[in-house]
Amino acid sequence: MIPIAAPLLADEEADAARAVVLSGWVSQGPQVAAFEREFAALVGAPHACAVSNCTTALQLALTALDIGPGDEVITVSHSFIATANVIRHQGATPVFVDIEPETYNLDCARLEEAVTERTRAIIVVHQMGMPCDMAALMAIARRRGIAVIEDAACAAGSQIRMNGEWAPIGAPHGDIACFSFHPRKVITTGEGGMLTTANAELDRKFKLLRQHGMSVPDTVRHSSSSVIFEEYVVVGYNYRMTDMQAAIGRRQLERLPDLVARRRAVAARYAEQLGNLEGLRLPSEPAWARSNWQSYCVRLPDRLDQRVVMQHLLDKGIATRRGIMCAHREQPYAGLNRRQELRQSELAQDRSILLPIYAQMSAEDSARVSAAVRAEVER
Ligand SMILES: *Cc1c(COP(=O)(O)O)cnc(C)c1O
Repeated sequence: MIPIAAPLLADEEADAARAVVLSGWVSQGPQVAAFEREFAALVGAPHACAVSNCTTALQLALTALDIGPGDEVITVSHSFIATANVIRHQGATPVFVDIEPETYNLDCARLEEAVTERTRAIIVVHQMGMPCDMAALMAIARRRGIAVIEDAACAAGSQIRMNGEWAPIGAPHGDIACFSFHPRKVITTGEGGMLTTANAELDRKFKLLRQHGMSVPDTVRHSSSSVIFEEYVVVGYNYRMTDMQAAIGRRQLERLPDLVARRRAVAARYAEQLGNLEGLRLPSEPAWARSNWQSYCVRLPDRLDQRVVMQHLLDKGIATRRGIMCAHREQPYAGLNRRQELRQSELAQDRSILLPIYAQMSAEDSARVSAAVRAEVER
């Protein structure tokens, strides 16, 4: 069976977790602090804050920006449902913009028609690791005074060229970027998330909010030679990452360049083997983007039925997934007012499939997938 995805975890990660277990400090502590420093350095961000997952990272981003009832937040429906859910949890209103079919990302040409005087923020998704057109998006956001949160859940290791310079996603392009370390992403800590920002005040708020609003962290009290009484200065949450997760994350960070290089090699093989198939649309990078290829999404020819193709591939021992979901089609969003047609989002969900891709995927396995896809398209 060829799986849709597989994390690359080995002795290094197991040993790192073991050392933390035996150290006697397993909750948020020195490993989390080191993971934050190393992640910030890797993506070129002044500040990083580790949290329990990307969903809580997005929630802290909205909370720190003071977004609540009466506010509108622009995003895409075509994303994992957490992107829309966090807006609802704040009591704010998600406003969905359609995607462009080439990159599966927010269509910046459709962005401005969704802006009203109540628009406070945009959550822009770098879907499947493909960077969104941040130059176009930021020009609009800055002109209209709207904060930008990057849902970079899938995009650790992706790069974008802005103002002539390549930089990792997570460098200060928008105001805040949020990452996921779920096993379906490129690096994993089991569960985990990270916020990066250039804004020291926002970073201070994230670190307060993730830890019950506690003025003095337990690590400081633990190592202090004098008695310290903490205060609880805001209504916070418990969104902490553990030191075991962070220790694993640090080893995963060391692997990241290699993991991305290997995924890019798998994607290049797919492009070569599937490139000349009539009616099959392959993903491609704009000149200013380098994807980490968290997923490899192909648009099927219109004459093929998505479910039938997926079943045929499964019968051959190849796991696939349908295109990224659309939140507006799910029950909690049925009553939501829609400002624009989301036709490309719906087509992407209904007409695309994700092919297996992971760092350790062998050339034989990707060739097997390509041959099976070819057989479907030529059927
Ligand atoms: C995976 C994902 C999330 C949620 O990440 P978790 O760490 O599982 O909470 C949010 N947005 C997008 C686009 C994702 O792919």
